[in-house]
Formats: sequence, structure tokens, C-alpha cells
Amino acid sequence: MRKQRTIQDKIKVSGVGLHTGRRVEIELAPAKENTGVVFYREDKDVEIELSPESVVDTQLATTIGKNGVLIKTVEHLLSTLFGLHIDNVFISLKGEEIPIMDGSSAPWVYLIRTAGIVEQNAYKKTIIVKKPIKIKEEGKFAALIPSKEFEISYSINFNNTFIGKQRMDVVVDEHTFIKEISKARTFGFLKDIEFLQSHNLALGGSLDNAVVVDEYGIINEDPLRYEDEFVRHKILDAIGDLSILGMDIKGKYIAYKSGHNLNNRLLRKLTSDRTAYEIVSNPSREKSVGDFVWEPQGSI
Ligand SMILES: [Zn+2]
Repeated sequence: MRKQRTIQDKIKVSGVGLHTGRRVEIELAPAKENTGVVFYREDKDVEIELSPESVVDTQLATTIGKNGVLIKTVEHLLSTLFGLHIDNVFISLKGEEIPIMDGSSAPWVYLIRTAGIVEQNAYKKTIIVKKPIKIKEEGKFAALIPSKEFEISYSINFNNTFIGKQRMDVVVDEHTFIKEISKARTFGFLKDIEFLQSHNLALGGSLDNAVVVDEYGIINEDPLRYEDEFVRHKILDAIGDLSILGMDIKGKYIAYKSGHNLNNRLLRKLTSDRTAYEIVSNPSREKSVGDFVWEPQGSI
């Protein structure tokens, strides 16, 4: 169990939204203990606190909202905050989408480390997964099962000869997040882009913020940042989606072809079953409930 953290200085940045194509200015400000990650739509004067129920749309990106006021594509910034253990931060913007930056978490990691990170006095709550929870749909699934650490096992299987099957297993901590996950970029298929743009989606998409794939390889001139960058980006997305719980996680997330929709339904299923989890907020309590070994029985 660890202490909560915030950023030392404000961060101001402007960039383009992947789906809206609009330029937006965004500011991250330090926040006091137990604030959590709070979004503020400055132009609408609406504050949105994170919870699984604050997610209102999961088509192509994770969108949060309140009273019809939306903030789209929050997952990469949220993933970065979780990966760097930034628990308390006030995020304000005058627009409806978080800038896509280079399509990964790397620019956010750089900005946050440059601003500095401050440890606070209160402990960060941890949610301990106590029994397996899963969501299955049309050959895809996402699950959370008990584990001593926050682990991810992610598999993708695309009907594309270049990407095909990829699998990655990782214990997520600050070091593995920065080194193994944060640089993995958003990706899309050349054949889908025209369709998306004709439906007013991916309007800000370009080779500067996405890896674009056809049947033979990638269109981008720059090489891949990791050989299996695609599955790593799916893990980056999943970390952002799971971070919406607002707590550290003791559990193993297992996914096969999952996405924002399944991830959000998984969180809602977990939090609606009081026997499936326990929340601890101080270190002595953590010891008494956290150090068990879960023996899997049968298949999940
Ligand atoms: Zn993504």
C-alpha cells in the first residue's frame, strides 16, 4: 500500500482530438488528498467525477459525461495517471475531447515527470478482487480474478496477416508502465479510415498520432516502437479503463479481444457484487485481507 500523489506544478498543453479533429487546450492542476481525478468542462461549467457509471459511450474511445456534457477519449491520459500513480489531479478543458498527442501515453509521461510528482499523506485505497468476474460476448472476453498484484494478460487476434495474434503478460507498476506500455500508439486499419471519417469519426487521425495498418504492414514511415506494439496499446487502453475505479487494483485482468465496452461492463459487474471485492484504505487492514493465495479451480 502506498501514499497518494499529485503533480507539483500545473501542466498546460494544447492538441487535437482524435475523433473531433478540434484543437483543445487542457490544464492539469495539483489537487489535495482524496480529490481523485476530476474533469472540468470549463466552457460548460460542468465537473465530472470518475466512476464506472460516468462512462456514457465506448464506441472507438471511452467517453465520460454528465447531464449531456461529454469528454471523449479519456483513456490514454487516465492510463498515464494510473501508471505514474497520480491520484489527485484537476483536469480542465474548453472542449469535448482530450488531445490525442502522439497516440500513446509517452507525451503525458514526459509532461508529468517534467512538472514533478509530490507524495501526499493519505494512503491510496486498494480494491482487492476476491472472486472471478467475467464478461463474455461474441468470441471476446474480459475477466478480473484474484491476484497478489495488478497483473494483465491480454490477447488479441485480428483478421489481418500483419498483426494476427499477439499476447502479453505484465505486472503493472510505474516502471513497467513507462518502459513496456506507455509508448504504444493507437492503431487503425486503412480500410476502416475512410468509413470512419465519412461518419465524422477519426477526423483528427493522422500518421502522427496513429499506426495505420493494411494487409502488408504499416503505412507510417516510422517503424513500430515495439514489435508487438498493438497488444501493448490494448493494455494501455485497458489500464485507462480500469483506472476509472479510482483505486489501486489487486487482481489479474485477463482479456481476449476486449475493448472499452467490455472493460466498462466488467467494472460495473465487479462493483455491483459486494462479495466480489474488498476495499482497503490502510496498511494494517491490507495485510489481513490481502495476503491470500487464490487457487484457480476449473477454467475461467
Ligand atoms: Zn487507445
